[in-house]
Amino acid sequence: MATVVKIPVTNSNKEITVNTGLFINNEFVPSLDSSEVIQCFNPATEDVIASVVAGSAKDIDRAVSAARHAFKTTWGKNVTGWERSRLINKLADLMEKNVQELAELETLNNGKPLTIARDFDIEDSIQCLRYYAGWADKITGQTIEVDNKSKMAFTRHEPIGVCGQIIPWNYPINMWAWKVAPALAAGCTIVMKPSELTPLTALKLSELVVEAGFPAGVINTVPSLGSVGGAALSAHPDVDKIAFTGSTITGRKIMEAAAKSNLKKVSLELGGKSPQLIFESADLEQAAKWAALGMCFNTGQDCIAGSRLYIQDSVYDKFIEMLVSTVKATKIGNGFDEKSSGGPLVSKTQFDRVWGYIDSGKAEGAKVILGAEKRNTKGYWVDPTIFTEINADMKIVKEEIFGPVLSVGRFKTEEEAIALANNTTYGLGAGLHSTDASQCMRVSGLLEAGTVWVNQYILLNNNVPFGGKKQSGIGRELGSYALEEYTSVKAVHWNIGEKLKWPL
Ligand code: NAP
Ligand code: MG
Repeated sequence: MATVVKIPVTNSNKEITVNTGLFINNEFVPSLDSSEVIQCFNPATEDVIASVVAGSAKDIDRAVSAARHAFKTTWGKNVTGWERSRLINKLADLMEKNVQELAELETLNNGKPLTIARDFDIEDSIQCLRYYAGWADKITGQTIEVDNKSKMAFTRHEPIGVCGQIIPWNYPINMWAWKVAPALAAGCTIVMKPSELTPLTALKLSELVVEAGFPAGVINTVPSLGSVGGAALSAHPDVDKIAFTGSTITGRKIMEAAAKSNLKKVSLELGGKSPQLIFESADLEQAAKWAALGMCFNTGQDCIAGSRLYIQDSVYDKFIEMLVSTVKATKIGNGFDEKSSGGPLVSKTQFDRVWGYIDSGKAEGAKVILGAEKRNTKGYWVDPTIFTEINADMKIVKEEIFGPVLSVGRFKTEEEAIALANNTTYGLGAGLHSTDASQCMRVSGLLEAGTVWVNQYILLNNNVPFGGKKQSGIGRELGSYALEEYTSVKAVHWNIGEKLKWPL
């Protein structure tokens, strides 16, 4: 199988070259023993655009060895924070230089609009790298006075070691940056497993890793099926930590594999069924826009999608009207069409899953007030769909859909709103819209979620921590908090005067 493919860019004469091997020790190599390939689709056309090598458990093993060797020799404690910072910034520079091509590749493989890939996902990823480049030489421990005459102690925040990073398909470049940047800043080495659905940009970024000058083995990329490479990484005895973003079901498997192997540290960023509350005092026009964004951004393929909306009775009819006309202004279309603000769903599996939920909403008696009509064309299209007249037992209200599907309910009192919002096994995000400051403070304190937006929704910042409560995950990404996921604290006790009498 060819190790380099040329992928034509839609609506242009350009072609993008991608190395389709496994990226280990700064080289693209074939699999040791797998002849399997992963086919990559353009979800807007259903065409196969490339095939990449599907790595095996043996390939994961080889990548882990490369990462361990780098950790012991050229990275980890062998390199200054300043040098790590310099290289991470260099990588950010190269992403900036290649932003258009990276965005085109992301659009071809994931489907999202080119402008969103370029100006949101990759722009944010570059900022993420620079943010953690800033941290790399500022990771410090504590000095602890124990007894001035006899003893002092200090802590070192050491890199945890070799990290397996398993990322999903909804933000392939962004999730790559969120994982790679803090790990590198802390001094860890990496074996990255991108999703089988979207491995191309991780491979392209691997080329930039070499160009930036990272020592061999610091970042390795092994495209592989989840049940093969992902499972092998999670169970590997020489991996010190797994960072994962994806479904709760897979998160559970990873934690189990970690427990059964070497008790490696695990951080999980899982799904959500995030509520937004519209109180009667809200700026309704603005709230309708944030609610529409929460539902439609990334065509709803977002762990923090605001997929449940509860409106106070007194403004219900008025708000519904505003919401429907706001959502209608969204155009879902081919990512290379400048007018598209959302693309297709990523795959046939996701398409069938989301349509299954829409059918179940109808069958369980919810009322469709927008969408729910299939297009009769190629591509994995789902237009924004809104259900009202819901109840708490419906599948569309309980389960993560991962498409542009919103369930709308109503409430009379603040207590009722909070109870509805918290009635979920998830706890990733929640939003509230109100101009009553006391209400904002009260309600934000009572919502059970790792992130609460007040009069906003879905926007994140690299310097603010992100993660879930309940079954939405463990650990935090972004901000200084993410560094804790990639460091282990060593305490050093130093005797400066105590003479031990023996026997005691
Ligand atoms: P998934 O299985 O959780 O995929 C996420 C990542 O985990 C991918 O890299 C996947 O690899 C890998 N993986 C799969 N099985 C694994 C295993 N046994 N051990 C280790 N890693 C494994 O999610 P999905 O099946 O693609 O999507 C299903 C649903 O998950 C979606 O509808 C959505 O509800 C949720 N989801 C959530 C997020 C999020 O951002 N929180 C992201 C994606 C999906 P492969 O892709 O190669 O299988
Ligand atoms: Mg899978």
